[in-house]
Amino acid sequence: MRVFVRFYEELNDFLPVAKQKCEFEVVFPGTRSVKDLIESQGVPHVEVDLILANGESVGFDYLVQDGDRISVYPMFESIDIAPVTRLRPAPLREMRFVLDVHLRKLARYLRLFGFDVLFDASFDDAVLAEISARQKRVLLTRDRGLLMRRIVERGLIVRNTDPKMQLHEVLMRLDLYSSCKPFSRCLDCNGLVQPLEGDIPLTHIPAGVYAWCREFYRCTGCGKIYWKGSHYEKLKGFVKTVREIGLAREKKS
Ligand SMILES: [Zn+2]
Repeated sequence: MRVFVRFYEELNDFLPVAKQKCEFEVVFPGTRSVKDLIESQGVPHVEVDLILANGESVGFDYLVQDGDRISVYPMFESIDIAPVTRLRPAPLREMRFVLDVHLRKLARYLRLFGFDVLFDASFDDAVLAEISARQKRVLLTRDRGLLMRRIVERGLIVRNTDPKMQLHEVLMRLDLYSSCKPFSRCLDCNGLVQPLEGDIPLTHIPAGVYAWCREFYRCTGCGKIYWKGSHYEKLKGFVKTVREIGLAREKKS
């Protein structure tokens, strides 16, 4: 069997230079699904949003035919693909995540912006894949092999190594700048943070803080008390900068 394949946009990041941004030939014995064909080239299927075989959109289970011309497009590519079928509906309205153990800082940043993020340093690859599949969470990782696990349907390879850049990368690729709800979640446990009403547990608040502050918030998960101290001001500055960058990027696109 002999087919011609071309990958578009950032999917090229997964290919050796010789195969980037051009049509290339793949020869193999027997029949295989287009999903297997794509993954045999090192591209995780979860990064793919649209496949065309000879100009017609096909699903992952399409069996490749001799002489096929296969075009493979990434998730959320901005080209107009309205007339053809995407493999997935539009981005999930409420985006939830599970992060692999190497993305601890990114997990905290995403929580700071209000996203539901599961992170636990004890999760191994099998557990991460299972949680992603069962709870329909987007699995973020820098490990391509992890996203190639059969049960994983939603996932993204994080390309940047700097946590702040990783945050922008995720917000931008999933178009999430406008759905941020900063300071609504606990950075430690992912619980929702709510204003603290009624009796204030003074044992949990330093006397120095209580001298000037009467507005407190409590995590509904771990019970941690938050207030708008100097740490909050610093984070507020960071949130503002991230939003401004997001706004500028939206205007440009
Ligand atoms: Zn908490």
